[in-house]
Amino acid sequence: MSENNMKDDAQYKQKLTPEEYRICREKGTERAFTGCFWDTKTDGTYLCKCCGEVLFSSETKYDSGSGWPSFYEPAKSDVVLEETDSTLGMTRTEVMCKQCGSHLGHVFPDGPAPTGLRYCINSASLELKTD
Ligand code: FE
Repeated sequence: MSENNMKDDAQYKQKLTPEEYRICREKGTERAFTGCFWDTKTDGTYLCKCCGEVLFSSETKYDSGSGWPSFYEPAKSDVVLEETDSTLGMTRTEVMCKQCGSHLGHVFPDGPAPTGLRYCINSASLELKTD
């Protein structure tokens, strides 16, 4: 780790709970139906827990039945970074916050119209700002 990354890492450790750190900075996953937003229907904007970037809108949130907050698209196309993830014997597409690199979750091609995508995101990676 570079000196800058070490400084960032120390800040994240201070700012996040151990569970949030494990998910956001170590690419962990919360257990289904345990996060604080999987069943949330409140209007608002979902921000990155780590850097505050606007990532998703409640307008694109839907009930996927997965136990994780699910959205059919990001707030803007360029706020997330998508990369192939071949861990755990599967090929999935990982979704990260483009601004800070925080792990958010994965995107799957089984979502509803209009995109057909399911952004399956950890509650721990998000903060809800209500309208
Ligand atoms: Fe971020």
